[in-house]
Amino acid sequence: MTILVIAEHTNAALAAATLNTVAAAQKIGGDIHVLVAGANAGAAADAAAKIAGVAKVLLADNAAYANQLPENVAPLVAELGKGYSHILAAATSNGKNILPRVAAALDVDQISEIIAVESADTFKRPIYAGNAIATVQSSAAIKVITVRSTGFDAAAAEGGSAAVEAVSGPADAGKSAFVGEELAKSDRPELTAAKIVVSGGRGMGNGDNFKHLYALADKLGAAVGASRAAVDAGFVPNDMQVGQTGKIVAPQLYIAVGISGAIQHLAGMKDSKVIVAINKDEEAPIFQVADYGLVADLFEAVPELEKSV
Ligand SMILES: Cc1cc2nc3c(=O)[nH]c(=O)nc-3n(C[C@H](O)[C@H](O)[C@H](O)COP(=O)(O)OP(=O)(O)OC[C@H]3O[C@@H](n4cnc5c(N)ncnc54)[C@H](O)[C@@H]3O)c2cc1C
Repeated sequence: MTILVIAEHTNAALAAATLNTVAAAQKIGGDIHVLVAGANAGAAADAAAKIAGVAKVLLADNAAYANQLPENVAPLVAELGKGYSHILAAATSNGKNILPRVAAALDVDQISEIIAVESADTFKRPIYAGNAIATVQSSAAIKVITVRSTGFDAAAAEGGSAAVEAVSGPADAGKSAFVGEELAKSDRPELTAAKIVVSGGRGMGNGDNFKHLYALADKLGAAVGASRAAVDAGFVPNDMQVGQTGKIVAPQLYIAVGISGAIQHLAGMKDSKVIVAINKDEEAPIFQVADYGLVADLFEAVPELEKSV
């Protein structure tokens, strides 16, 4: 049994989610190979080679893979993947863009967003916005799987010494072109990787009031998230959205401020280790999942909390 893990990376460095995906592969068992498809991606391949438990790194270095456009990377993965028992990628926007195409090309079902490995062919995944957990057994010859990174503790980034092997694959499919990207710049940790997340909801009232959360987050070294209502109201950009249709987070500490606790929001944060809720409505459903609840006006409670940190 040999497992192919598709690395998530920036060419220069690996994204943290790759380590969680390798951890899922370790639970399946067997040899683990990591594919780094990029351009001038030697540094990312070297980082992948150092991950504990990785047997081999395949480096597909080609200008066509520079921005990991799924139209170009999926045919490469489908080609290489024919020799593997499992193909895994993180359930990030990138992984979710590539793997369904791979599954279709290999004519197998995809198993999406696993949170646990029961055996080499049986996995657990959330359904109904996380309200039920399905156990899925697959008889597919090649199991194509996306991994929810919050379900697996990261594999050790150091300790391995895998060989890096150059591979080639289909060239530019010519179906899409990378035009540009605008990356949000922030000194705060990335939302899905942060150990502490402070999130604001509609109760914040407007975008300017998020300054209270930024001040608290900066003292705590936290990332700042938001409910969909806060995003839809234009308080903050949508890359801050936590929930079913936003980002899935599972930090050590999640502080929900002025968030009612709709199931679609809970789907994105209820696996957090400790949940603190600040809400002026003592009936708010968020208190049902909170480890610590504060019934208070956020405009008094948050500045007070910030001062005391
Ligand atoms: C298909 C679908 C997908 C969805 N995906 C997501 C998703 O990914 N993420 C998400 O978050 N939602 C999602 N939603 C929306 C979700 O159903 C809720 O509408 C949303 O989460 C509500 O956001 P909220 O808690 O900020 O707002 P509200 O429900 O309006 O709650 C605001 C809370 O703030 C409190 N409050 C107000 N003022 C103060 C104050 N001064 N001090 C303290 N507390 C105060 C109120 O008591 C209230 O509990 C989705 C919905 C659908 C249908």
